[in-house]
Amino acid sequence: MVVAIDGPAGAGKSTVARAAARALGFTYLDSGAMYRAVGLMARRHGGAASERADELDIRLGDRVLVNGEDVTETIRSPEVSEAASKVATNPRVREALVQKQRELMSSGDWVAEGRDIGTVVAPDAEVKVFLTASPEERARRRAAELGTDVDMVLRDQTLRDAQDMEREHSPLTAAPGAVELDTSGLSVDDVVDRIVDLVEGARR
Ligand code: C5P
Repeated sequence: MVVAIDGPAGAGKSTVARAAARALGFTYLDSGAMYRAVGLMARRHGGAASERADELDIRLGDRVLVNGEDVTETIRSPEVSEAASKVATNPRVREALVQKQRELMSSGDWVAEGRDIGTVVAPDAEVKVFLTASPEERARRRAAELGTDVDMVLRDQTLRDAQDMEREHSPLTAAPGAVELDTSGLSVDDVVDRIVDLVEGARR
């Protein structure tokens, strides 16, 4: 079974998807980490690196490895966030990463998190969730996580939201049939319970 969780930056996707995967005994797929890996390579080696995204050996798990290098922390910087959002507008990058994600999810049970899982990567996912939260709440969470200033995060986030929603290829949008969950004011456990209920409903 595939559980697709999409939504904007800071809606709580990673925390919720990781916890839901644990609760369900499914494997967690962080598709954003793949775009971040390509973004990092583009920053280091220029735009041509993103044209060869299909050649990158990206391993996800407790650590994120790119061609054998541990980039787990490096890919979380604001610079790489911005680079990821930029390379994510490139259809060749998307094609290469969507293929890798489909290969990974071709067997087993997954909770996959991103922007286009329910719309493009796994449109047949048994459970689709679109997570949202108010922009201020999202910025507050991200700032607490990074230990930085809320206003700065809000500015970056607004830019990234616009870039993700307005891009020509696979813009961020709720998939048909997705259940929209506003996580403002909800605890992680509340949201995970809701997702586990949806999975149990889909199994019946
Ligand atoms: O989820 P995360 O913030 O790590 O994703 C980084 C960037 O990668 C996003 O801003 C978005 O532009 C891009 N992304 C995407 N499609 C996905 C996952 C991430 O375009 N499925």
